[in-house]
Amino acid sequence: MGIATVNPATGETLRTYDAHGPEEVERRIAAAHEAYRQYRTTSFAERSRLLRVAATLLDEDNEDIARTMTVEMGKPIAAARAEAAKCAKAMRWYAKNAEQLLADEHPAESDVQDSGADVARVHYRPLGPILAVMPWNFPLWQVIRFAAPALMAGNTGLLKHASNVPRTALYLGDLFRRAGYPDGCFQTLLIGSRDVEAVLRDPRVVAATLTGSEPAGRAVAAVAGDEVKKTVLELGGSDPYIVMPSADIVGAVKTAVTARVQNNGQSCIAAKRFIVHRDVYDDFSERFTAAMNALTVGDPLDESTDVGPLATEQGRADVEALVDDAVARGATVLCGGHRPEEPELRSGWYYRPTVLTGITPDMRIHHEEAFGPVATVYPVSDIEEAVAVANDSPFGLSSNVWTRSQEDIAFFVRDLEAGGVFVNGMTASHPALPFGGIKRSGYGRELSGHGIREFCNATTVWQR
Ligand code: NDP
Repeated sequence: MGIATVNPATGETLRTYDAHGPEEVERRIAAAHEAYRQYRTTSFAERSRLLRVAATLLDEDNEDIARTMTVEMGKPIAAARAEAAKCAKAMRWYAKNAEQLLADEHPAESDVQDSGADVARVHYRPLGPILAVMPWNFPLWQVIRFAAPALMAGNTGLLKHASNVPRTALYLGDLFRRAGYPDGCFQTLLIGSRDVEAVLRDPRVVAATLTGSEPAGRAVAAVAGDEVKKTVLELGGSDPYIVMPSADIVGAVKTAVTARVQNNGQSCIAAKRFIVHRDVYDDFSERFTAAMNALTVGDPLDESTDVGPLATEQGRADVEALVDDAVARGATVLCGGHRPEEPELRSGWYYRPTVLTGITPDMRIHHEEAFGPVATVYPVSDIEEAVAVANDSPFGLSSNVWTRSQEDIAFFVRDLEAGGVFVNGMTASHPALPFGGIKRSGYGRELSGHGIREFCNATTVWQR
């Protein structure tokens, strides 16, 4: 399937789109380049004004764009509304804070003198048109968390969105146009992944950010490396969720369910591997299994649905293959492990919330990301074993720990290989906190001051 809106709840193709041809792509790159020459000189006040207008429009569009997302990729409608609201909030946060985040940096006076200067400072300047290759799972949020800081820094943006969310992709281009941004500041390219390389090799495109799978990240980073262009990569994750004996078990279970099945289980920062101390293992796994089993799977436009369909047929096939492989190698299914049996759910790409235990390293699911509502539960005997199991993953995006012990917390913060440690809660992004991973989860950071500075030229100004 090329670029198309296919409703994952029914399998119905609602609309197909013609990809932009080389001439249209050229026109848009030229516009991004041309817009940058002027836009880079605008004041923070003007950039803030524009971004606030875009945030207001997004709030006004909340219900419409939420329904668009739900129909394109299947997230429950309440989550879609919350995603759109979160985007508007992040836009306002950057509109308010960007100037301060990019304020000049002044080294210590003694160091300035030592360098031989009368005055020395670091000045943050924009880079130019940035290519954003984005996924379908949070089709608004993934884009806005790039676009808001990039535009506030004075860059322009070219969005290559996932091929299954073209309506949302076109909406985003239109949103910035309606907000009054100069032509070319933020544009959508309707292109397939095959056409990304040519865009990235264009000398007018200066950097790229990608959120998605490891193969996609590797492909984009290889081309960018060849062109010596900066990249930020936010790839997969298989985040651990560790429960220690002192934890609030009821709270840990409730949050564990949300952390695993948010967005129908298709989130890079979803908790995927539940690592539980033996002292509380039976209690946790019984309660967790019961709660996962009690979730309502159904039409994502229905307000009472907890878990909608997976976004693509291939996505469900991938999840099924991971579960089947684990079961064939001896994993125990505590709940789920199959598609729902209700006749009305047969045509969509649904999968029952699933809990597996008895996981061994020869199973694919031990090392690979389960991008669907599938949890694995591991018993461990002590904190050292908990950390060893948590770190036994190629990924290092975020992590979650539940404990009341300050000693445990210090140990986890020191030893977990991840871009975040969330204590007595679940990983969630916030505009003020850096977001990103290590190992095969990628590199660079989004959000906060770290995110906005990724696509800036930290210019040393030395003056006598
Ligand atoms: P992909 O990584 O394939 O897609 C993400 C984006 O990258 C899309 O815009 C896609 O375009 C583009 N892309 C894919 N391959 C290339 C390439 N070789 N060169 C340039 N751009 C490329 O994700 P999938 O939808 O296939 O999902 C597969 C798996 O990826 C999931 O099961 C999950 O493990 C992981 N994933 C992780 C996400 C995260 O948030 N970290 C988000 C989505 C997926 P196009 O759609 O046109 O192929």
